[in-house]
Amino acid sequence: MSEIKDIHLSGSFPRIDAVQALKHKVYFWQPMSSEFLDTSIEFLKGVGPQRAEALKKELGIFTFGDLLHHFPFRYVDRTKFYTAAEATADLPYIQLKGQIKSLIIKGDKRRKYLIGRFEDSTGGIELKWFQGAKWILSSVKLNTDYILFGKPSEFNGQINIVHPELELASEAATGIASTLQAVYNSTEKLKARGIDSKGILRLQKNLQLIFPTSFPETLSIDILKEHHLVDRKDAFVNIHFPENVQKQKKAEVRIKFEELFFLQLKLLTQKLIRTEKYRGFVFGTVGDYFNRFYTEHLPFPLTEAQKRVIREIRQDCGSGKQMNRLLQGDVGSGKTMVALMCMLIAIDNGYQTSLMAPTEILANQHAESLRGFLGEMGIQIALLTGSTKAAQRRKIHEQLKDGTIQILIGTHALIEDTVQFKKLGFVVIDEQHRFGVEQRSRLWTKSDQPPHVLVMTATPIPRTLAMTLYGDLDVSVIDEMPPGRKLVKTVHRSDSHRLQVWGFLKKEIELGRQVYIVYPLIEESEKVDLKNLQDGYDAICKDFPAPKYRVSILHGRMKAADKDFEMQRFLRKETNILVATTVIEVGVNVPNASVMVIENAERFGLSQLHQLRGRVGRGADQSYCILMTGAKLGNDGRLRIKTMVETNDGFKIAETDLLLRGPGDTEGTRQSGMLDLKLADIAKDQQIVIMARDSGIKLLKEDPHFQAPANQSIREKLKQIMQRAGNWSRIS
Ligand code: ADP
Ligand code: MG
Repeated sequence: MSEIKDIHLSGSFPRIDAVQALKHKVYFWQPMSSEFLDTSIEFLKGVGPQRAEALKKELGIFTFGDLLHHFPFRYVDRTKFYTAAEATADLPYIQLKGQIKSLIIKGDKRRKYLIGRFEDSTGGIELKWFQGAKWILSSVKLNTDYILFGKPSEFNGQINIVHPELELASEAATGIASTLQAVYNSTEKLKARGIDSKGILRLQKNLQLIFPTSFPETLSIDILKEHHLVDRKDAFVNIHFPENVQKQKKAEVRIKFEELFFLQLKLLTQKLIRTEKYRGFVFGTVGDYFNRFYTEHLPFPLTEAQKRVIREIRQDCGSGKQMNRLLQGDVGSGKTMVALMCMLIAIDNGYQTSLMAPTEILANQHAESLRGFLGEMGIQIALLTGSTKAAQRRKIHEQLKDGTIQILIGTHALIEDTVQFKKLGFVVIDEQHRFGVEQRSRLWTKSDQPPHVLVMTATPIPRTLAMTLYGDLDVSVIDEMPPGRKLVKTVHRSDSHRLQVWGFLKKEIELGRQVYIVYPLIEESEKVDLKNLQDGYDAICKDFPAPKYRVSILHGRMKAADKDFEMQRFLRKETNILVATTVIEVGVNVPNASVMVIENAERFGLSQLHQLRGRVGRGADQSYCILMTGAKLGNDGRLRIKTMVETNDGFKIAETDLLLRGPGDTEGTRQSGMLDLKLADIAKDQQIVIMARDSGIKLLKEDPHFQAPANQSIREKLKQIMQRAGNWSRIS
């Protein structure tokens, strides 16, 4: 109880009820009031109103809990000693033991500095102080053992350390210098208020001194035991003040597990709520449309993977539960046909369907190919995009309301409020990573009972990320390409090989093939981008002169009708080369195009490069992807290009992408706001992700409503999280 008394005496800390605290000590896994963690940071010793203000503004630290969750980004090993002979400039920090042999003031009147000579038995290095010379001269003892700590650098071929930390060896034995020392992020403004990394460390220490005896636990004893996790207090102590490396690692695993566990639990619970709350339309029969299409109109035999996925979807839609399924399939694996056949099942059962695409080009293309596939089957298809004329739009709205239209294809225009269906039963969202969570959720309002939803993506997502981003979706995978496809040959060429590349393009064009040349979007300035593209276009027109060659241009700033016009010309083989920005990245299908040239390829992300490459290799011809770069490449750029040259496997590419960029950058995650992770990393902590997910599934199976006393702490924390998530729980 002594700690609690101390807290009372400090005066600035809100009172903790001793009886309550005692109770928690006995039942420590019971939810404790989070009073301690919610205490304003202002009341911590060493903070006060002004620093509190700065901590809030600069680091978002409002409470004790926030400070505890401000984790070190690395540790300095104060147990390891180097020798002077081992000191090199590429070491981040070193700790040495030895003596200072001399101290001399150098420089001129304008700028004086202090030079010291430090030696151990292996050799010596130079120490430098630009400030505080007087104090050093008066306090440092020559020829006495010191422990020295600092960042070595090289100057005039000599190793030196600027402003080293010094500690008398005789005094160091008990100090903080004997453990791993946490290093924290801080900001210039905080440093000006004395809160640098060391300052934060001091605050952490002050906080640890007033930890309540019973620290609020968030996991159950069962889970702690099963995964050999340390308790929460232990974790928070050892993440900031590790006793040793093992304890620090254990603390890290515990905290990462907690983050990932609650994330998974949130997703799993949302899924549970959805299946309990929403009934699904039952597609009981496979009827005339499906069967007629299958026997009379299917232009090619389905791959086994396509058949399997159609079966999976059919099963879902007949189960009485509302389906939310993610369909992953590499570029060109034939997702559209799967979508179409499932829509036919919905139509057979008397429902309307819709197919939403992220761009007008793609929506147009879908409309055309679906019309082509369905031929004279008498199915009513409509296309609704931003450029649909008002009169036509009104007609479509009416026909949706009275149920005439059976398939509606379109862009975002689909989710405008005026669009009302009579009986919408099945929704397909193509290239879903382009859509925000918000947009997807608005589809739900189109009918009282939510339709079945199939989201399709050609950006393969590694398993652990899929678990996290789409943890509440079921996942189907098309892992097989239609037969006869040749792998796209991918090469890397530098700008100095341009003539050869152009020669190759001319040969391909002579064989009747077509070529894409893509320029990157450099987000900082659209004007510059457009100029790059225009300059490139002009140069290409010169190198590929009319009338022998015909070149068209396509970019996002063009009017929809113009874009469509250029796309159609290319599709009809009226132009040989399409110079474009990434507007063609998604889904565009021109089977006769056999070469994809990507300019400044190092500027593109991996998944984008893979998408672009997927625009070729869609016909029977051997296709090529040529990645053009300057001579100089950064490390990441080089690895991206290398990965592209080495593999065509979208999943391998996605894994590399995740490791290179981190999940925060993966398309779709930025807007999802779902990854509230401070310590865990979906890419690097895949094992813990899986552990957390399995643990969540097990818990929900055993105690779906968190009724067991042992699970009350989990329930409390989850409740907070779900409240914060608000309406998002309804979102697919
Ligand atoms: P994605 O999965 O990238 O959306 P698409 O649906 O556009 O791929 O299909 C790519 C091309 O492959 C299209 O021309 C499509 O008609 C064709 N295709 C789809 N399934 C098969 C199949 N089983 N056999 C042959 N070609 C197919
Ligand atoms: Mg597609």
